[in-house]
Amino acid sequence: MAKDYYELLGVDRNASQEELKKIYRKLAVKYHPDKNPNDKEAEDKFKELSHAYEILSDPAKRSQYDQFGESAFQGGGFGGFNFHDPFDIFQQVFGGAFGNVFEDMFGFGGQTRNGPRRGRDLEYGLKLDFLEAVKGTEKEIKVRRFEACSECRGSGAAAGSEKVTCSKCGGQGQVRQATGFISLVRTCDACGGAGQVIKQPCLKCDGSGREEKTKKISVHVPAGVDSGTRVRLSSEGEAGAKGGSAGDLYVSISVREHEFFSRREYDLLYVASASFPQLVFGDEIKVPGIDGEVDLSIPPGTESGQIFKLKGKGIKRLDRHSRGDQLVKVSVTVPKNLNAHQKKILREFEEASGKKKVPESKKGFFDKMMGTFK
Ligand SMILES: [Zn+2]
Ligand SMILES: [Zn+2]
Repeated sequence: MAKDYYELLGVDRNASQEELKKIYRKLAVKYHPDKNPNDKEAEDKFKELSHAYEILSDPAKRSQYDQFGESAFQGGGFGGFNFHDPFDIFQQVFGGAFGNVFEDMFGFGGQTRNGPRRGRDLEYGLKLDFLEAVKGTEKEIKVRRFEACSECRGSGAAAGSEKVTCSKCGGQGQVRQATGFISLVRTCDACGGAGQVIKQPCLKCDGSGREEKTKKISVHVPAGVDSGTRVRLSSEGEAGAKGGSAGDLYVSISVREHEFFSRREYDLLYVASASFPQLVFGDEIKVPGIDGEVDLSIPPGTESGQIFKLKGKGIKRLDRHSRGDQLVKVSVTVPKNLNAHQKKILREFEEASGKKKVPESKKGFFDKMMGTFK
């Protein structure tokens, strides 16, 4: 979903809320999955449109979007944002019972959504520091989701009130209606297709059986995750309806860059600077590693740009117990602001080496540098 929301809806950047709503209504109906069965493209488009409308119809979110684009809603800086179910957005805009809207709009009865329905899966964007991802961590996140109503335990009926068979459809959830010569089967508007009505709806949830709540969930992030990894928390999504099971919660990880570490798969990359004499004479140095400092022995005559492999000092593999390697590239630092004495010694060294020009092929050296990590 990298498309511009305004372009997606085909509106001007300063379109009014009224215009936005109008255009969303038009497009959402056009691409609604019930109107385009088995059309994945239409479904995706419907979801994108609903996401775009959700953001732009909220003045605060719209202004964040105008300033930061979609990244404002992808975890991190703004603490993440859960998009609502596109169908909820759709329903909000059109209002009223789902069945009725459909019949009026499309001229046919939508599928009755009877029986247990599994709750929606939710997705949460979680941003981690580089080392948190590498070492694994525990994070507490706050997720806004629908849960079974605490008052009626999801039944939607007030205490002591039973569900009774709908008198209009006799429990069928559908009514037959004759218009001219054609007889149409429509979703019953009295019970919304459920076949049962609640005599006294629960006051807390208005009979829906669900309430929206913010829940704190602790997430165990295993060591080795990287941007793009999704951690699945079973049954932590939204509550199901009519006795359906809960959906899952997917935590999608994105990882911030580190000041000096980077990674390639499960290898940890680090560039260590060394002085020219250290490379010439060799030295024992310490480099930062995942679990503290690591000893690295530089042999005499080491070239700048040479890479040393510290076996098994890399990142833990997600699916195995083994670890990648740590690769240390040794890079020479060119001293600046030399004093007169240092300059003199260096010139003498050059003269003693019998040359006073730029070292051999410059091109070859750069090729080596650029190709090192490839
Ligand atoms: Zn309730
Ligand atoms: Zn009915």
